[in-house]
Amino acid sequence: MHLRRNSLLSLVAAIAVVLSACVTGAQAQEAVAAVQVVAEDGAPLPARVQLIWPGDPYPDIQVFFTDSHGLCPLTGARTGQADLQVNHGPAWSIERLQVSVDPAKGRKRLVTLKRLYDLHAHGYYQGDCHMHSTSSDGRQKPAEVSSHCRCEGLDFAFLTDHESVAGHDEYKTQAAPDFLPLGGQEVTTKQGHILALGVTEVVSPDVSNGADDMRRIFRQIREQNALSVVAHPCVPTMSYVHWDVEDYDAVEILNGSAPPYMGLFDLVQARLKWHALLNEGKRVPVIGNSDNHDNYNSFALDALRDPQGAVKRDRRLGILWNLPNRDEIIVPWGTKGLFLGTYRTCLKLDDLSQAGVLAAIKAGCGFVTNGPIILATVNGTDPGSEISGQTAHIQFDAICNRGLERVTVVVDGKPAETVDLDGTEALGQELTVDISEAHWLTVECYGTWPDFATTNAWYVGQTEQ
Ligand SMILES: [Zn+2]
Ligand SMILES: [Zn+2]
Repeated sequence: MHLRRNSLLSLVAAIAVVLSACVTGAQAQEAVAAVQVVAEDGAPLPARVQLIWPGDPYPDIQVFFTDSHGLCPLTGARTGQADLQVNHGPAWSIERLQVSVDPAKGRKRLVTLKRLYDLHAHGYYQGDCHMHSTSSDGRQKPAEVSSHCRCEGLDFAFLTDHESVAGHDEYKTQAAPDFLPLGGQEVTTKQGHILALGVTEVVSPDVSNGADDMRRIFRQIREQNALSVVAHPCVPTMSYVHWDVEDYDAVEILNGSAPPYMGLFDLVQARLKWHALLNEGKRVPVIGNSDNHDNYNSFALDALRDPQGAVKRDRRLGILWNLPNRDEIIVPWGTKGLFLGTYRTCLKLDDLSQAGVLAAIKAGCGFVTNGPIILATVNGTDPGSEISGQTAHIQFDAICNRGLERVTVVVDGKPAETVDLDGTEALGQELTVDISEAHWLTVECYGTWPDFATTNAWYVGQTEQ
């Protein structure tokens, strides 16, 4: 009995030694000091790299970016066990792995991202038309904004500092064969913010003459062969107030710097406002942008690190913080993060040039998203087209690298048809809706909260009797 007990104890001890050797071995093998990101064919891929540390009550996240060759030293990272997550925009897989981090003694770890969808093969390009740098109130220098855009998988992006074009030259030095940096301005008036996409000279935000000044702003933007976009139209105190002045070229219905608390007003309200304009018979193209002020997502991460402090610093955050379901809203929003291109505009282009991008925005030829990809045709035509007849035949490809939930066809502002989806992709799906009484339709795609995308509108023309 005594002997048997001793044997059992030694067996347990032996197993413990073996187990601890395995764990130590695994840690030694996996200790990471740098990440090399590549595509499946081995080509280096610029990407965003995050370390997600266990935290109380919410995870603590460190953000890094690779260089243009996909290499990312984890300089300044904490040491220990963390989840490593690598992103390159919505057309690529998000890779997640558990690693032991040791910036001093670790090794370089290869991470391969899978391309989920080849947008270029379908003529689509991804852009962000609203970003800030140190040339106004952003935290990063223009060149840093530009190089991080490539990590987020953007093909083009406009730098739109408040009342400044001073950052354009530095920003454009980072142009690359796969990235087109473009200049603009956010005309920050007291009666609404207007994106001036493509301007090279600052447009005055003075609106002391009200609607007349607003017309002057649109005219001065047009005279520079640039486009006017009503930015975040429903954010309190920053909303456009001159809807009777209709000289704008597009409306920004998704804005990343309007987090969920503002989202209650803007993310939903801006879409409803757009639908109302369409219901009035207007043809209004839309875009979606990050309005990024910090490539590293400090605003949301600070809120997760110190929720009560964040509420005190930003009273508006308290509106949502006090909702009973904040863990379903704030936490997924904060951990997903607000980065360059988290909200983006995907356009079908003949060629990737400033003229091509501006023409596609004005034509409404594309979709806006904070996650899902939704490529749709209606009766064989792209978004922004006029269709006719009694029936709309919709064909779509939907992708969401965080999980796809459903696609809904919206006719005259009301859901007309929904397909429930499960997984990450739905290719070559078809739907038919009756448009005999309809005026316009859009195709919306929903993924895991808060992922959402909508196409621009198709307009139903006069049907022959
Ligand atoms: Zn603004
Ligand atoms: Zn802005």
